[in-house]
Amino acid sequence: MQPRLPDWIDPAALIRQGRILEGTLPVARFARLADQLHDSDGEIRVELHFGRFDAGVEGIKGRITGELHLTCQRCLGRMDFPVEQEIRLGLVESEAMIERLPEGFEPLLATEDRLALTELIEDELLLAVADFPKHAESECRTQATDQDSAEREIADTEHGDNPFAALTDLKKH
Ligand SMILES: [Zn+2]
Repeated sequence: MQPRLPDWIDPAALIRQGRILEGTLPVARFARLADQLHDSDGEIRVELHFGRFDAGVEGIKGRITGELHLTCQRCLGRMDFPVEQEIRLGLVESEAMIERLPEGFEPLLATEDRLALTELIEDELLLAVADFPKHAESECRTQATDQDSAEREIADTEHGDNPFAALTDLKKH
C-alpha cells in the first residue's frame, strides 16, 4: 500500500534535503474538481522529486497518474479519463525570478514556508481536464451505466418521445 501524503509541505526544506514524496490522494479530496466528476471513486498516485535540477533550478519534478471518472458533457454518462501529468515546478521567491526560469518549468511562488499539497495536485488535475469533456462520438452513451439509461428512459417518457407510450394510450380508449 502506498503511504498517505502529508496535507502540508515545506517545499524549500524538501528541496534542500533532496527528498522524494510518493503516495496517493483520494479523488474525493479534490473539492474543486467535484463539478466535473461523475463519481469520486479512485485515487491519484503522486511522485514528486525535490531538489536542484538543470540550470540550477530548485524545484519539483514528478508526475501524477490515475483515472478520473468525469461526466461526459454530451450524454452525462461516466467517462473514464486517464491522468498522466508531468510536473515541472521551479521555486521562485519573487515575480522577477519567474522570467529567469528555464523553459519547461512553471513557477511555484514561495511566499510562505508551507504549501497545501492537495491544492497543488488539484491545480495540475484542473489543467489536465478539458473544460467540456466528451466521449468520442462513437462511444457516447454506450458506456452509460444501467442507472443512467433508466434515468434517460424516464426522461424520454416525460418528454413524450417514447412511441410506445402513445400506443398504450390508444389501447386504453
Ligand atoms: Zn458521452
